[in-house]
Amino acid sequence: MGIMDRNRHLEEADKKYIWHPFTQMREWEGETPVIISEGQDCFIKDTYGRWYLDGVSSLWVNIFGHRKKELDDAIIEQLGRIAHSTMLGLSNVPAIQLAEKLIGIVSQSLGGRGNRQWLPPFGQAQGTAPAKVFYSDNGSTAVEVAIKMAFQYWRHRGVTGKNSFLSLHNAYHGDTLGAVSVGGVDIFHNTFGPLLFKTFKAPSPYCYRCELGEEYATCGLACISKMEEILRDHHNEIAALIIEPLVQAAGGMIIAPPGYLREVRRLCSKYHVLLIADEVATGFGRTGKMFACEHEEVVPDIMCLSKGITGGYLPLAVTLATEEIYKAFLGDFKELKTFFHGHSYTGNPLACAAALACLDIFEREDVLTNLQPRIAVLEKWLRDISDFAHVGDARNKGLMAGVELVKDKKTKEAYAWEDKTGWKVARHARDNGVFIRPLGNVIVIMPPLSISNENLGQMLKVLKDAIIAVTA
Ligand code: PMP
Repeated sequence: MGIMDRNRHLEEADKKYIWHPFTQMREWEGETPVIISEGQDCFIKDTYGRWYLDGVSSLWVNIFGHRKKELDDAIIEQLGRIAHSTMLGLSNVPAIQLAEKLIGIVSQSLGGRGNRQWLPPFGQAQGTAPAKVFYSDNGSTAVEVAIKMAFQYWRHRGVTGKNSFLSLHNAYHGDTLGAVSVGGVDIFHNTFGPLLFKTFKAPSPYCYRCELGEEYATCGLACISKMEEILRDHHNEIAALIIEPLVQAAGGMIIAPPGYLREVRRLCSKYHVLLIADEVATGFGRTGKMFACEHEEVVPDIMCLSKGITGGYLPLAVTLATEEIYKAFLGDFKELKTFFHGHSYTGNPLACAAALACLDIFEREDVLTNLQPRIAVLEKWLRDISDFAHVGDARNKGLMAGVELVKDKKTKEAYAWEDKTGWKVARHARDNGVFIRPLGNVIVIMPPLSISNENLGQMLKVLKDAIIAVTA
């Protein structure tokens, strides 16, 4: 079969056999799919040999680009030992090494300072960062684990009635039903309403479109006051508050105002509600620090990590819990305090080996320091395009950015979602060698952290041209 025949066969077979995620398949079937066959650095190559800049880090997972030698080598080396064995009743070498390393990094980043934990501990010092690693294999499962852990924790403490959770409008924590229950992106989540458990919803810290009708300069964090009202009235029903620290990513790259997260921590402590930080998207340097919580010196009780943990190579997730939470699950076998949760690929050795190599690169290449000039380039570009007639808001935290396009800048009138303005920009960019995926009218910019200043500049130029072409 010649190359053209092979490609055509792949295109047909894709449409015939695959159901793509978050995709209206009727539209997909009407187009020729781009099929990726290779990657190198920040670029991905399709079956026709066209290269695209990977502007969304392969859905926010890739950190150091594709074919990163150290990651390739670590996986190959582990493959020479064993690909997978179970964590139920056994352990494995890379899973232990990674847990030790991760806890070291987390306690260095988050421990020993900032807003302290409030929990009356079982004899341990207050203020400690999460100290135990519970493995799973994707962001949604990390969140499911966190939800169940928080719920069961209170049971073991003898506290009844905490059967609900507090989450935010515009929150996104994954696609499994627990994660959807604490989600708040109506367009994705409303359909499943009848299947979800009850949650309380606090306002989204979305200053550009404040749901309380306030202006940031004068609001005194009114959204926090609203959150406090809910906690004051319902804390006896709430096991935990779950939040994407600083950036509500899938909700539209919504950046919380300074001081917001710290206040959330204060309220959780005050009202005896666990704080779950979902750092699935924000973790591993995306916001300019290793973890978003660091920006406000916040220590969560439970923390979810995935996506970038393996540098974007293999599925892996962790839910980190404090020693205090862990200890509540200890008991006699027949007390049934066991945490009954675990997946087949939990703690997969290949993925853990990749994650270990990934954390080594963070240290060796001083990734976070080197990131700062790229963030500066991005921020300058965001300021520049803020003047455009149809750019309502251009926002970022670190290398996570969103450009919200609006029909009318003065009134902030949005483009009708059916008009697919964001998609049109993405398509224009793709035709010019940059792959991105918008969130409604928000153009998402989230390249690998390793992107060179030059490539970042090229990418931003293509995006600027695309925005001009589509909104003119
Ligand atoms: N939490 C957050 C904050 C996310 O952004 C995502 C994915 N975009 C998830 C959880 C779910 O992760 P996964 O897609 O790996 O299930």
